[in-house]
Amino acid sequence: MIIAVDGPTASGKGTIARALAAHFGLPHLDTGLLYRAVGRQVAVNGGDPDDPADALAACTFPDGLLGDDVLRSEEVGGLASRVSVHPAVRQALYERQRAFATQPGGAVLDGRDIGTVIAPDAKVKLFITASVQERARRRWLEMAGRDIAVALAEIERDIAARDARDMGRADAPLKPAPDALVIDTTHFNREQAVDAVLEAVRTRLG
Ligand code: C5P
Repeated sequence: MIIAVDGPTASGKGTIARALAAHFGLPHLDTGLLYRAVGRQVAVNGGDPDDPADALAACTFPDGLLGDDVLRSEEVGGLASRVSVHPAVRQALYERQRAFATQPGGAVLDGRDIGTVIAPDAKVKLFITASVQERARRRWLEMAGRDIAVALAEIERDIAARDARDMGRADAPLKPAPDALVIDTTHFNREQAVDAVLEAVRTRLG
């Protein structure tokens, strides 16, 4: 069984995908990490993330980079959003994601285009969302917990810019698949969001 979990940044999709993977005993892939690795590798190469050739060259990043904490920074998230606009980058990362999705037994993948492009055949498709203000608040709390001081307004601005880029790009824009369950977690805490999703998935599976 393939479960596709899409949604904008800081919507809670990663937490939800991990909870679903644990619940159903399935392997999980955070596909955002692949784009983050490409974004980081462009910087390491001294390239330009907005240049399609530089971004494509960075797709051969070493696998070890996927475990590097630097990928979790806001800066790398912004670079990821820029390299992910290029169709050649998306194509270069396609096979790896598709192979993970179609492994025997199934898998849970989270990202932006899992239900629409990577696994349109997924048995369950979820689109997790929340207001920009709430997502900024969550990101701010998470950063405060790591002793990173950033103004809430700045995070809100970055998130809005990232949303606009992810939703506005021509290739594989962020949008719910027509058959996705859309779940708004704005008024849910972590446990409530996971419970709501598990309930929705059980109902969908009958
Ligand atoms: O989910 P995360 O914030 O780690 O993703 C970083 C960026 O990678 C996103 O803003 C998006 O531009 C890109 N991405 C994508 N397709 C995916 C996953 C991530 O374009 N499946």
